[in-house]
Amino acid sequence: MEKFPDAYGLVKHKVEVYPPRTLQRSDLERAHLPNYLNAVNRDDPRGQPHGLTTYDRNRLGLPPGPRLLERSMLETAGTVSATLAAREDGLAANLAGGTHHAFPDRGLGFCVLNDIAVAIEYLRASGQAPGQILIVDTDAHQGNANHAYFRNDPGVFTYSIHVGKNYPAVKEPGDCDVPLPRYVESLDYLEALQASLPPVFAATEPDLVFWISGADCHSDDRFGQMRLSHEAIAERDHCVLELCREYGCTTPGAGTVLVYGGGYQPKPGMTGWIHAQTVLRTARTHETGPA
Ligand SMILES: [Zn+2]
Repeated sequence: MEKFPDAYGLVKHKVEVYPPRTLQRSDLERAHLPNYLNAVNRDDPRGQPHGLTTYDRNRLGLPPGPRLLERSMLETAGTVSATLAAREDGLAANLAGGTHHAFPDRGLGFCVLNDIAVAIEYLRASGQAPGQILIVDTDAHQGNANHAYFRNDPGVFTYSIHVGKNYPAVKEPGDCDVPLPRYVESLDYLEALQASLPPVFAATEPDLVFWISGADCHSDDRFGQMRLSHEAIAERDHCVLELCREYGCTTPGAGTVLVYGGGYQPKPGMTGWIHAQTVLRTARTHETGPA
């Protein structure tokens, strides 16, 4: 995945970048079943008991094995570290993450571990749980696993704005879903975002926001099925960040945590560039201070 080094190269001299803390297997087991973690860790499940089935490998979309589990743990550690940094500093980003299709017992659509679920359970286990948590998911695909994971959790509100008839085929009801038509244009998208997200902030008054930004809303993306321009993505970012600031979520003790989500541009370097712009916009929000 070239987007990770590409975006890192664009932001590393403009924001403070730290390596993530190390996670333990027990940190993952708060959000995932041990049997699933064992199966992901197996190189070749064919003929072996307890590995991923062919069906599960196909729906995950990545070859299982120790390297995949290690890479996914590192990515998840980035979200845990960004969460702790955001609580301390107001705003932080993981230069990866947003794996919102990973369920406790199965991975889908390139998502192995659910980084936000692991981060929230990490906070709770360490006695640092905030009052109300809001997940804002502006990736082009529905955050189905987050919706399912937190469905009966009054401490976490899930919002997702996405293409209604796109992956995942089976949607999970969230606290606020905004399904849009295929190939939605910039203005229609922004109108729907601006009509639906401010009432969610008003109703929840969050202490901590996780924002899965998603680079796959752009018109050239291979899988997103949206037609947003670069300017519209900038406007989207501005809308989300202003709400976070307005509700005090960019101040120390509260927190806004940016994670990537998906992005699949055909042109080399473009996916990383889109993610990097969102990271830099988030950093600028921090520099300008509370409104
Ligand atoms: Zn996506």
